[in-house]
Amino acid sequence: MEKIQFKTESKRLLELMINSVYTNREIFLRELISNASDAIDKLYFRSLTDQNVGLKREDFAIHISVDKQNRVLTISDNGIGMNAEELESNLGTIANSGSLAFLQENEGALDNIDIIGQFGVGFYSAFMVSKRVTVVTRAYGEEEALKWESEGLDGYVIEKASRDSAGTDVILTLKDNTDSDDYDEFLETYNIRSIVKKYSDYIRYPIKMEVEKRRPVEGKEDEFESYFEIETLNSMIPIWRKNKSELSDEDYNYFYKEKFFDFENPLRVIHSKTEGKVSYNALMFVPARTPYNYYSKEYEKGLQLYSNGVLIMDKCADLLPDHFSFVRGLVDSQDLSLNISREMLQHDRQLKLIAVNLEKKIKNELLDMLNNQRETYEKFYKNFGLQLKWGLYKEFGLNRETLLPLLMFYSSQRNKLITLAEYHENMQPEQKYIYYASGESVERIDRLPQTELLKDKGLEILYLTDDIDEFVIKILRVYEDKEFKSVSSGDLGLKDGDDAQSAREQTKEHQALMDFMKEALGDKVKAVRLSQRLKSHPVCLSSEGMLSLEMEKILNSMPGDREVKAERVLEINAHHPIFETLKKLQAEDPEKLKLYTEIMYNQALLIGGMSIEDPVAFSNAMCDIMAGQA
Ligand code: ADP
Repeated sequence: MEKIQFKTESKRLLELMINSVYTNREIFLRELISNASDAIDKLYFRSLTDQNVGLKREDFAIHISVDKQNRVLTISDNGIGMNAEELESNLGTIANSGSLAFLQENEGALDNIDIIGQFGVGFYSAFMVSKRVTVVTRAYGEEEALKWESEGLDGYVIEKASRDSAGTDVILTLKDNTDSDDYDEFLETYNIRSIVKKYSDYIRYPIKMEVEKRRPVEGKEDEFESYFEIETLNSMIPIWRKNKSELSDEDYNYFYKEKFFDFENPLRVIHSKTEGKVSYNALMFVPARTPYNYYSKEYEKGLQLYSNGVLIMDKCADLLPDHFSFVRGLVDSQDLSLNISREMLQHDRQLKLIAVNLEKKIKNELLDMLNNQRETYEKFYKNFGLQLKWGLYKEFGLNRETLLPLLMFYSSQRNKLITLAEYHENMQPEQKYIYYASGESVERIDRLPQTELLKDKGLEILYLTDDIDEFVIKILRVYEDKEFKSVSSGDLGLKDGDDAQSAREQTKEHQALMDFMKEALGDKVKAVRLSQRLKSHPVCLSSEGMLSLEMEKILNSMPGDREVKAERVLEINAHHPIFETLKKLQAEDPEKLKLYTEIMYNQALLIGGMSIEDPVAFSNAMCDIMAGQA
């Protein structure tokens, strides 16, 4: 028979498996059992609506059998089976999204064999222990069975076979023992039993094996006879129904990684049992990193929903609010009907109640992380902080109470992320506002002239670097009793000092100069003023009204032809030497003053991280000045 070749990526995974020196090879059994269980799930679902299946819940099982002589281990299920097309596409290509994603992301890391145990590697893991893998399968509804067989990299064959009913046998011919590796261990009952207990205890169908037992011979002392008995190896209690005290971190981590195709341990495990108006078990996880499609439309939020241990929906979106959409996990409740439809679920009161409880629970767990595991929380926040902020913004602050304590922003003083509560505690006795500044990066914001005065006075500033930040601040408006204030806004609420006094007087004195400069800039600015906040820098731009310059930038970068414009104010530092020059020009050379005004405006734009309208003209003007021609 002609051999069919494996697809390229599959071949690489297969190669990795065959040559594996991984010490936990035993996980192959976990993988095969998990496939068998999935296949049974599918047929079991079918049996709920299709009389012809002819099997009851208790008829479904996985069987393990051992042929020591031929060194063959067989894992059989009476699940849905595979037809020719499915055989070809499922076993000839990697279906497992986890392993595929891993391969794509970690091109060079394939030598890192330890990674194998970290996530579900699927069917191919059988090749870690087998020199030949044979699959005999019959799809439900098909008359004929098929046999798939492979001895490794050089491909596989598919031919006709026979099987009494629907289901699949995975038949492993174990590798030969070597000096360093003993594969016979996978033929020993006690060993198989312990591997099943370790990894597959919660599988919801019985995993049965015929085991040899011994009993005393009746009437004869000291004599034993052996007999065979079918033993069920797993307890079938799903992990989420067990008590926390029975479970180790490792148990949770294994479960998470296998079930949700992650290869990193979760940052947080949330396991809760609730009894009351509605009873349920919830097992939830906060992932350690953002899924690649998280901040895109493709990402689907939701928890798995079980009714009394039976999966009824894979991603129940109604169980999670958008701001916590990163949570993975499941909910199992006996108060939900098995046959409930999707539409009905949306209106289900029990479900709503569960969702409300879960939201509270998640919030409290995150707060606990924030208070007791700061570093972990920062890691979390780096990944999902944006989502929390989006949540606040999208709901117009309706979920303020939930989300406000979880927010963090970068502090000008502490050089790290802080909460609003931490800012508030640190405020000076007479400080009126919570100050913030926005920009592309912390470094850029820190260099803004507008921050100088506040920093000089020892006032803390929150640096906002995400596009959404300032919009969130606008929605929040106040924290406790304190209003948020942009460092660029007109009134910073500082105590009137001599500075302010003299600035006001100077403004009066130089009103004509300011008016002239405003005239020169036309519509570009709303006003030109003497600054109260600049210390060493000559100019800056500030804004008046609701819209800040940062917001203008963000809104205008979004699709659509609507242009928004912040009300710009050009601020001039009267203490800077350039001011003398301006005054002089006003009297002696108004044309030149126009040019200088234009240049200063462009400088202010550049400092603020904005682009200038005509860079060439700007550059030429500068050169003219440098050449002494202007
Ligand atoms: P995964 O299980 O993660 O999808 P695998 O490589 O383990 O990846 O399996 C590939 C596919 O082969 C499965 O998705 C399933 O469709 C099919 N398959 C594997 N084992 C069985 C089985 N025992 N019965 C029916 N289908 C199976």
